[in-house]
Amino acid sequence: MDAGDIGSIVVAVDGTSGSGKSSTCRAVAERLGLRYLDTGAMYRAVTWWMLQHDVDVHDAEAVAARAAEPRLESGTDPRRPTISLDGVDVSVEIRSDAVNGAVSPVSTVPAVRERLVALQREIIGAGGIVVEGRDIGSVVWPEAELKVFLTADAAARAARRAAEAGSSDVAATEASLLSRDRIDSGRAVAPLTRADGAVQVDSTDLTLDEVVDLVVGLATAPADAAP
Ligand code: C5P
Repeated sequence: MDAGDIGSIVVAVDGTSGSGKSSTCRAVAERLGLRYLDTGAMYRAVTWWMLQHDVDVHDAEAVAARAAEPRLESGTDPRRPTISLDGVDVSVEIRSDAVNGAVSPVSTVPAVRERLVALQREIIGAGGIVVEGRDIGSVVWPEAELKVFLTADAAARAARRAAEAGSSDVAATEASLLSRDRIDSGRAVAPLTRADGAVQVDSTDLTLDEVVDLVVGLATAPADAAP
């Protein structure tokens, strides 16, 4: 890709829970002067809204019936990403255990996905953005100039997530990650999958800096040098 094109590039990063997508994407966006969108935060915010409004998150019809109601706003500054719901910042609430346990069922509901995918496409717009999720390279923006599928061993992912959350219960964290992976990979609509043309990166034995260098290298490499 020419240096002049980097400002309009779309970098799609999909992968399993806890594989390091957020830290990687934020750092890549900062290094390249791009915006950043965390689509997982959007699914989490809708889930938080459903919990706050006593919607049974395991009742797909009930979730679908109210999917149009939450008013979401995503800030795309990689140094300070924000997510607000009906005008109130919910960055902390969306990381709660309650949301961890409910977000994958809510994300299987087609009405939720249709609404959020439309919002995501609006935000991506003319590009210049690093977008992380589960279906970015496959469904939301298949024409992305660079697609990365980021993975890591479950034990490594759990250890990282538990450390971030200040928790010593790595086994519980691993069980929660694996449960989300199972639902995300097995759902009928937009399952987690390696998109056509995605470069797979296993971050198990790599430091964050090494993963960031790798993705920045791929994003700035001439198109004919891409794998
Ligand atoms: O990325 P994060 O782990 O915060 O995502 C939370 C959940 O949101 C995922 O486990 C998945 O169920 C859902 N999700 C999704 N599609 C995306 C991003 C997240 O279904 N593009």
